[in-house]
Amino acid sequence: MSLLITNLGELVTNDPALGRGPLGLLHDAALVVVDGRVAWVGAAATAPAADERLDAAGRAGLPGFVDSHTHLVFAGDRAAEFAARMAGAPYTGNGIHATVAATRAASDDELRAGIGRLRREALRQGSTTVEIKSGYGLSVADEARSLRIAREYSEETTFLGAHVVPDGSTADEYVALVCGAMLAAAAPYARWVDVFCERNAFDAEQSRAVLTAGVAAGLAPRVHANQLGPGPGVQLAVELGAASADHCTHLSDVDIAALADSSTVATLLPGAEFGTRSGYPPARALLDAGATVALATDCNPGSSYTSSMPFCVALAVRELRMTPAEAVWAATAGGARALRRDDIGHLGVEARADVLLLDAPSHVHLAYRPGVPLVCTVLLNGEPT
Ligand SMILES: [Zn+2]
Repeated sequence: MSLLITNLGELVTNDPALGRGPLGLLHDAALVVVDGRVAWVGAAATAPAADERLDAAGRAGLPGFVDSHTHLVFAGDRAAEFAARMAGAPYTGNGIHATVAATRAASDDELRAGIGRLRREALRQGSTTVEIKSGYGLSVADEARSLRIAREYSEETTFLGAHVVPDGSTADEYVALVCGAMLAAAAPYARWVDVFCERNAFDAEQSRAVLTAGVAAGLAPRVHANQLGPGPGVQLAVELGAASADHCTHLSDVDIAALADSSTVATLLPGAEFGTRSGYPPARALLDAGATVALATDCNPGSSYTSSMPFCVALAVRELRMTPAEAVWAATAGGARALRRDDIGHLGVEARADVLLLDAPSHVHLAYRPGVPLVCTVLLNGEPT
């Protein structure tokens, strides 16, 4: 079965060999999908025939968003904490314990209902790939359960047992558990290992222990780094060859240079700064230094309860001073780099046919028309959703 999508007013391919600039932009374009993969891309006037035809009527097309950082396995919400924060209370991260209690008390089906709702919500807004972390279980059984359920919704699952130290443990006792029995129970359901390297969470030595134990168990590292203040997280991520350092809100010049000289992606999560009314990360300095930047939602009930990549693109343009092209690249190809995937985040031949159509003539409208549901068609593996 083949599908021709034609009459695309603009097509973002993210393949500079196919079109103009880093986005590989084409105009009056068409794309052919065969067996869930992109089989042909080019000018609509020269497109080959196919079994079925979808007329984009001049709309813009782009690769599906790759949301490389979410925390979708949880129960309850923290609307009251958010309201208090917006009334002036500081963000401390302590509310995590309320989510841990609610998550432990929830049944498997209650967790599935929550994650399924958020996954559908994200897909409607164009996220065709969503990474999902554990981290609200904080016990051997609850972390393994969180990842087992997350695996039902994504192949990109991340063991984040080292999210926060649970009540009743010292940090060192807890790190020993995370690196031992908890990792052994979680690893069969995870691709990645992550740690919250931050003052009041895990220091450099504890973070290194968690990440190296994860690597020894066959997981690949990524790091929550430099969110709430300066710290060693970014340097540790680069040193260990992590796929990404996430947040990167408080960076020194040395941190920026280290990221620029490495293959570690700087994943920016502006929803978290929005939701905690905090200063935004130095995206301009990272991009100007040559670092690879990704955008993700950080969807979680505490600091960033949005599943919307278009919202994050708009924030990145308005608040992080990224250009619309840089933001769209970061939300698609950047996310794919952060997950070390070459089959998603672009629409070159052989890419997975994850394609969005916007009810707009260009990708610029994602930031130009913030808050407007412009994503009108989502193909996942070439299939309508
Ligand atoms: Zn996070």
